[in-house]
Amino acid sequence: MSNTILKSPLNTTDSGTWLRGNLHTHTTISDGAENPQTMIQSYADLGHDFLFISDHDSLADYSNLDPCGLILIKGNEVTASGPHILDVGAKVLVPATPDRQTVINQINTESGFAVLNHPNNTFSQNHYPYELMLELKDYTGIEIFNAKALSSAGSHLGLNRWDRLLAEKGMVWGFANDDSHDLSIVGSAWNVVWAKDKSGDAILEALKNGSFYASTGVEIIQLEVKNSKVHVVTANADKIIVVGKYGKRLFESNGHELIFDTSECLSPYLRIECYGSGEKMAWTQPIQIANGLSNILQDNLNENPTYSVSRVEIEPNMTGKTVDPLWDSIQPSRDFMSASNPKAQTMQTNFKAVFAQEKLFLSIYCEEPELDKLRMNVKDNGNPKTWTDDSVEIFLDLDHTGKDYFQIMLNAAGYYACSSFDSKRKEPLIIKTKVAREENAWTLEISISLANLGLHFPLGKEFGFHIVRNRKIGLFTSSLWTYVGESNHSPRFYGTLTI
Ligand SMILES: [Zn+2]
Ligand SMILES: [Zn+2]
Repeated sequence: MSNTILKSPLNTTDSGTWLRGNLHTHTTISDGAENPQTMIQSYADLGHDFLFISDHDSLADYSNLDPCGLILIKGNEVTASGPHILDVGAKVLVPATPDRQTVINQINTESGFAVLNHPNNTFSQNHYPYELMLELKDYTGIEIFNAKALSSAGSHLGLNRWDRLLAEKGMVWGFANDDSHDLSIVGSAWNVVWAKDKSGDAILEALKNGSFYASTGVEIIQLEVKNSKVHVVTANADKIIVVGKYGKRLFESNGHELIFDTSECLSPYLRIECYGSGEKMAWTQPIQIANGLSNILQDNLNENPTYSVSRVEIEPNMTGKTVDPLWDSIQPSRDFMSASNPKAQTMQTNFKAVFAQEKLFLSIYCEEPELDKLRMNVKDNGNPKTWTDDSVEIFLDLDHTGKDYFQIMLNAAGYYACSSFDSKRKEPLIIKTKVAREENAWTLEISISLANLGLHFPLGKEFGFHIVRNRKIGLFTSSLWTYVGESNHSPRFYGTLTI
């Protein structure tokens, strides 16, 4: 296993220069209150470096205007007949075809690049239905902040959409724009590129490649990635937060600087949010974590282990112990892995299984050097809190459909609870359990009767199967036979028992 490598679209160890600008501006050419020259002057007064005037469905020529020191880059907001798309660095006026994929394709082939605007605008926060954002291809980013939407229906933020898209679609960049229609919100939000030089081409290249951050007031001075570490220095953040897959908060640090080591990070990517005074913020683009823990987890997720169950004539003599002539002759499963970190050492856990007289018998071994500390608060069968003790949970998908399953929880005292998540079979399974203690281990045997379930058991029949061990001594940890991702209730990821 080689080391974690970070892929950041912005890395200030590369040579470059910071340049700031707004990509979303309206003027009297469409529905704005001010003429283009006034808007240019007001952005120049802010000290911005570049400006895109992006009137609705029009691409005006500003070459006769005074740029007031700004680099002016052409833009257009494709508006009519559907949700709005910014054509950043527009070269031609792309028609506002209702099929937005056609618009994006034309932007990409003939014009600039595409940004989906204010996704949470409108009363239902649904200017862009999420399914459409997922389905559309080849756009560069979305607006994660749109200042105009502060005073219109819906939310000015698009972070919920961004986090889902990053988890489910891939890398799209987050932009913060004014969408100014008058002078009142000029300078509310902007994007800061780390560009090779101070030219329109270099700015466009940086924006397209994600070499920028979005801001409403926090200034990032440095963003470096080296090996597994991210180092961010800001001028004015009070708190910096690392955000992972689906918006999960991974780490937070007070002050203006953050160093975060991703080598124990379970997310395949991260992004960084910087919080300053008032509502000042900055958002970096996502940084991908290659060769990290999430890659190992993904490999495990795809692996789907199989265990061959021996058929025996005579049922095991249920003592709870793993040592007897029958179990001695049976191969154990592979060792369980930590649910939270597949590289971590865990207490050894494994199982053996046999099939006899239409019953599935399991013998489960749980290494435990601190047997006197076992938590066994549940003292009755059928208790839904059984999992809160030192326990195992067995998940059995009898039809191997990846949909329906039974869950059986058993604590170290032998009390059990069975729940059916099987649409065809609401009755709990008939179960017998026996627990025992061995040197540095607690062990159990369980018989699960599969008679009277309307099943047949031809040779090679498969069940979906998963076992979790919950250890409650010290830090609460779980270990798994099959890595199932976010939840044990994910039968499509279960392993397979073959009888
Ligand atoms: Zn718009
Ligand atoms: Zn607009």
